[in-house]
Amino acid sequence: MTNSNSNSAQNSTQSNGVKAKSDAAQGLRDLFVDGLKDIYWAENALTKAIPKMIKNATSEDLIDALTTHLEETKNQVTRLEDVFSSIGEKPEAKKCEAMAGLTKEAEEIMESTENGVVRDAGIIMAAQKIEHYEIATYGTLASFAGTLGEDEAVSLLEETLNEEKSADEKLSEISNSINVDAADDEIH
Ligand code: FE
Ligand code: ZN
Ligand code: FE
Ligand code: FE
Repeated sequence: MTNSNSNSAQNSTQSNGVKAKSDAAQGLRDLFVDGLKDIYWAENALTKAIPKMIKNATSEDLIDALTTHLEETKNQVTRLEDVFSSIGEKPEAKKCEAMAGLTKEAEEIMESTENGVVRDAGIIMAAQKIEHYEIATYGTLASFAGTLGEDEAVSLLEETLNEEKSADEKLSEISNSINVDAADDEIH
């Protein structure tokens, strides 16, 4: 870019400094909104994937945990809509390739295992990969929201983050007993 006089050249230098800063902020906001679109797609996909996992599970504890988390997940979709509106954006979904892959992996595990403790162990493995992806996502998005000064979004995103962490911990607890049974299944 060229400037026609020295005055505007000086302004340009100054505004470049400011511009660089505001471009960076705009970039982070775009990254934040794109991340929201990505997880909005992912949570919607999970409202369809979790019922398949419930149908394939046999452990009562696992079925209960997944059923509880399905209800939380439906609520998380609504909560994300609140996040969008809190920052003045319309809810929009953008395909999350990671969640598409993680749910596909869950289906492959269910297809390649026999119904029972081993499949249950596989479902927990797949579900915990999903929870960890969500924990990483919501942790980052809450941090972005904080940097951007979007306080309402921070508290909404942290609420979901805590649900994902609890779901992951619950699955770890259940896996402790199921994995023993699954190994036992192997021996007999
Ligand atoms: Fe979720
Ligand atoms: Zn994603
Ligand atoms: Fe994988
Ligand atoms: Fe989750």
